[in-house]
Amino acid sequence: GMEIKRFAEKTPKSLDFYKEASKVMPGGSTANIKFYAPYPIIMEKGKGSHLYDLDGNEYIDYLLSYGALILGHGHPRVLQAVQEQLYESGTYLFGTPHRLEVEMGKKIQQLYPSIELLRYTNSGTEATLLAIRLACAFTGKNKIAKFEGHYHGGYDQVLVSVNPSVVEAGHPQHPNSIAESKGMDEYHEEHTIILPFNDLDATSEILRKRKDEVAAVIVEPIQSGFIPATQSFMDGLREVTDELGILLIFDEVKTCFRLGLGGAQEYYNIKPDLSTLGKAVGGGYPIGITGGKKEIMDVSIPKAASDVFDNSQSKISSAKDVLFHSGTYNGHPSILAAGLATIDVLEEEIDRINGIAGQLKKGISKLFLQRGIAVQTLGLGSMFNLIFTEKDQILNYRDLQHADYSLRKEFDFQLLNEGIYTKPLNRYSISSAHGQKEVDRTLEAYDKVLGSL
Ligand code: PLP
Repeated sequence: GMEIKRFAEKTPKSLDFYKEASKVMPGGSTANIKFYAPYPIIMEKGKGSHLYDLDGNEYIDYLLSYGALILGHGHPRVLQAVQEQLYESGTYLFGTPHRLEVEMGKKIQQLYPSIELLRYTNSGTEATLLAIRLACAFTGKNKIAKFEGHYHGGYDQVLVSVNPSVVEAGHPQHPNSIAESKGMDEYHEEHTIILPFNDLDATSEILRKRKDEVAAVIVEPIQSGFIPATQSFMDGLREVTDELGILLIFDEVKTCFRLGLGGAQEYYNIKPDLSTLGKAVGGGYPIGITGGKKEIMDVSIPKAASDVFDNSQSKISSAKDVLFHSGTYNGHPSILAAGLATIDVLEEEIDRINGIAGQLKKGISKLFLQRGIAVQTLGLGSMFNLIFTEKDQILNYRDLQHADYSLRKEFDFQLLNEGIYTKPLNRYSISSAHGQKEVDRTLEAYDKVLGSL
C-alpha cells in the first residue's frame, strides 16, 4: 500500500545494498530472522537510542538487536571496559581459565542464587544446548519437553513447534510436535514433547504420562518476551516437575536483566534446577551462560580435575561418565569485560529503564483507547509487544492466533516511515539510552499514524 511506497522512497540505498548482499549471502542475510519484506532497512551506525540507515534516515531503535543492547548502542562504560581489557592484557584470548570468568561468575551467583556453578558459551543457543545435555546426563533420560511457541535456539532438539501452523499444531491441550526446518529428522519430533503454556492441568497430565522419558522441561518464563507465565502456573510447574523427577530449566536468555537484575526467577520467586542466560548479559556482545545446581553442573567436571579435587566425581571411570562441553571462545575476556560493565551500569539504571518502558506502554495504550482500536500492550520490565486483538486474555501461542497481524504490519511500516524502528511485528525493547525525549517523540509518531489509519 501507500506506506510501502513511502518506505521505498525513503530507503533506495537499502534496496541497492540488499541486492549486493544477496550475491554474498542466501537471502541477503546471515540470519533468516533479519529479513523482512520487501527488503530490510540497512543500518550504518548506532548511537545511544538511535540508528542511522544508509540513506541517512534516523530512527529510535526499539529492536535493540532483539533485546541484547540493554544499554543502547556504544555505551561509553562498556566501550571503555572492552578497550582496557584488550590493551592491558596484551592478548585477548588466553585459552586458560582467567580472572574475568570468576569475577563475572561471582556476580551471576549473587544475582541468581539458583546458579551454584556455571559455564560460559558464545550464544543463547549454545547455553540451552548445554542445559539440555546436562539434564539428560543427570537424569539418564533422553527426551525433553518444551512449550508451544517458545524459542530456545536454532538446533534440532528445540526447533519444534516454535511457530507451527494452526492446522498442524493439533489439539490445544496436547499439541503436536512439528519440526520448524527443512532437513530435520523425525527423531526430534518424537524426542521433544510439546506442552501448552499457562495450562497447568494439561501440562501436568502430559508430564505424568511421560515422566520416565522426560529429562527436563525447558520454559521461557515470559513467552517470546511478552506473555508472562501466571504465578500459579509457575508455582504449579515447579511443584509437578519436582514431584515427577523432571528437571526444570528456565531459559532466561530474553528475561535476564529485563525484569530485574535477578530475571524471571527473582520475579516469580522460583528456583529452577538449571538456567540459561544470554542477550543483555553481554551488553551487546556474544555470550550465553548455563548454570544451576552444583550436583547437576558437576556432571561436566573433567576427569583430570576430579582427580585433583577428589570430590563427588570419584566414580568416573571412562570418558562417557563425563559430560562433554567445550568451545574455543567460551568465556572470552573482552566479552566478559563488557558483561561486567553492563551489570555495573544496570545496578544504577535498571529501575529507570523499566520505568521508561512502563511510561511508553501506558502512553501507547491511552492513544489506542482514544481512537477506539483494540490493542493489548503485553509485557513486563523493559520488553513489551502490541497485540491487535479484542481478546482480553493472551496466555499462550493459541491466543496469539486471533490477533490482527496485517493491521499491525501496516502500522509498523508507517512507524518506520516516522523514524520508529523495530522489525515489523517484533516486540519492543527499551535501553538505558531511552528517556523522556524518546517517549515523547514515539508517542507523537503513534498519534500521527493512528490518525491516518
Ligand atoms: N533462548 C531464548 C529464550 C531466546 O530468546 C533466544 C534468542 O532469541 C535464544 C535462546 C537463542 O539465543 P542466541 O540467538 O543468542 O543463540
